[in-house]
Amino acid sequence: MRVWDTSHLLDDIPAHKQASAGHIYAPADSQANLQRIRFHFKQLQTRLILGLVLGFLLPNALLSAYFHFQFTHTLKESAKLSLAAVAESQKNTIDLYLQERVVNLYNLFHSKDFSLNPTQEQMETLLASLKHFHDGFIDVGFFDPRGVQIACAGPFHSLLGMDYSHEPWYHTLLEDSKNYLISDIYLGFRKVPHFTIAIKQVFDNQTYVMRASLDPDKFYIFLRAISQGKEVESTLINHQGIYQVVDPGRSQFLNRSDYIPPPISPAGVEEFERDNQKMLVAYASIKETPWVLLTMQPVSVAQAGMINTRLVLTTSLVIISLLISAIIYFTIRRLVDRARRMAEKGQQLQEMLTHASKLASIGELAAGVAHEINNPLAIIMATSGVIRDMLNPEFELDHSPEAICKELSVIDTAADRAKGITRKLQDMGKSRVPSVVECDVNALLDEVVGRLKKVEFKPKHIEIAGDLAPGLPRIFAEPEPLRQVFANILINACDAIADRGTIGITTEAKEDMILVTITDSGKGIPPENLQLIFNPFFTTKGGGRSTGLGLSIAASIVKYLGGIIRVNSIPGTGSSFTILLPINEQAQKTIKQPEK
Ligand code: ADP
Repeated sequence: MRVWDTSHLLDDIPAHKQASAGHIYAPADSQANLQRIRFHFKQLQTRLILGLVLGFLLPNALLSAYFHFQFTHTLKESAKLSLAAVAESQKNTIDLYLQERVVNLYNLFHSKDFSLNPTQEQMETLLASLKHFHDGFIDVGFFDPRGVQIACAGPFHSLLGMDYSHEPWYHTLLEDSKNYLISDIYLGFRKVPHFTIAIKQVFDNQTYVMRASLDPDKFYIFLRAISQGKEVESTLINHQGIYQVVDPGRSQFLNRSDYIPPPISPAGVEEFERDNQKMLVAYASIKETPWVLLTMQPVSVAQAGMINTRLVLTTSLVIISLLISAIIYFTIRRLVDRARRMAEKGQQLQEMLTHASKLASIGELAAGVAHEINNPLAIIMATSGVIRDMLNPEFELDHSPEAICKELSVIDTAADRAKGITRKLQDMGKSRVPSVVECDVNALLDEVVGRLKKVEFKPKHIEIAGDLAPGLPRIFAEPEPLRQVFANILINACDAIADRGTIGITTEAKEDMILVTITDSGKGIPPENLQLIFNPFFTTKGGGRSTGLGLSIAASIVKYLGGIIRVNSIPGTGSSFTILLPINEQAQKTIKQPEK
């Protein structure tokens, strides 16, 4: 079964213009179409750009955030590792330095020339040898088993003969299993900061001690030298947190350090805050003495290189993302713009085509009208010629009133036919003044069927099967055009039935529409004709009786009322025409009046 409806007919043309062949082209609609296309492409562009943001920028931003956090974590760890490596290397260098100083003294004390009663000259030679190894040595002294300094060389001669047996370093050295000692920094009898390297040696069960004191300033210079170029600040503290070697610009010997490392751990890295600045500190215990090396760096300096790399990476990422976004944005804009222009051009072409085809239809319509009117005019002219001949005595024709009346009736019939055509064209053009009233569709159908039964249906055996819904809502319309719609479709149904058949008529109200269905058991409509039957002057009926305007007029009227006509047909079985009429009272009341 094929279905066809009239909703496509003159779709883009306002209802009050549809029936008028003179108002086919509608520039206002063209503007509306262009606006629609622009709106559609604007939406498309917004959707594509949103898609870009969600599909490209968002995952990119999430991924960048993830890498940023990973990178920051790695950056912190690597800064700690690198500072710990610097501390470890400096610690080893300090251990070596101290070991060397111990060995310097040890070698002299254990040389075969050394006597237990050294002369001043021998002591001066010893000090010179020590200074030769390292200029940090200040003085050298020799202690008998009682702990009394019995010989010395250096700037503190007043210390000769002093009893050191109660000095902490002396005490520790004698009690310790190791035969050497490196003391903390202290003031001692000389009241000047220094630290001591002392070595003990047993002769005849008596313990003798040799000691040398070292200048902490020289030790600081050494420490600074090994820190050079590493942008770190190194200090030495003892286990109580007292500075042993420190930058004089920061603090002084024997002051307490801002930072004290955890007591159990020999090495590690921590963050702490000093003077409102975040610092990274690596600590490492010195092997030779109970000191701890602190190697510090401001966090900003420790991470500077990596921060720069991160900045470069982030900036490049942002620039690349912006660049790609800009490229995609402008490409989308260009493509959408091009597609929109093509669509607009297509729309304009379509309108021009529609306009051209409508002009062609008008041409066809005009040609059809001329042909249809020419026929009766030719009959009228020929018949009036015959009457003239009848009245001419030369031809001796029968010119009795009856004979002339017979010819005049031929003229009447032809004039009637021409009048019928012009009336139908008038209906199509709505040139008559409409009078909209409340219509009862069931009553109109009864009326039309009653009239058709007397003439059109009479020669055939047609059974009318009516199923009209009671209490059908009334609609606002002109009754005569509605009658014409029903009559045209009913006459076609009758024409489709050869001799005997049924015509079914049903009405029903569905949602805000009234549905009138006219079914016949006729020959049906071939599929290829379904889309042609609503065209003006399309007819398959011969014999000059049909004009091909019936369905075209019906479709115009129904469309004018805001409805449509649907057709179902099975060739050989029958057809069904459904007329859908709106029952919206307000809409019906505001129907625009057609132009005269
Ligand atoms: P006309 O009746 O003068 O031919 P219409 O516009 O009323 O003009 O109908 C156009 C054509 O549609 C008809 O010639 C016919 O071929 C086809 N048609 C219309 N209604 C039916 C129907 N119920 N059954 C079969 N064909 C139909």
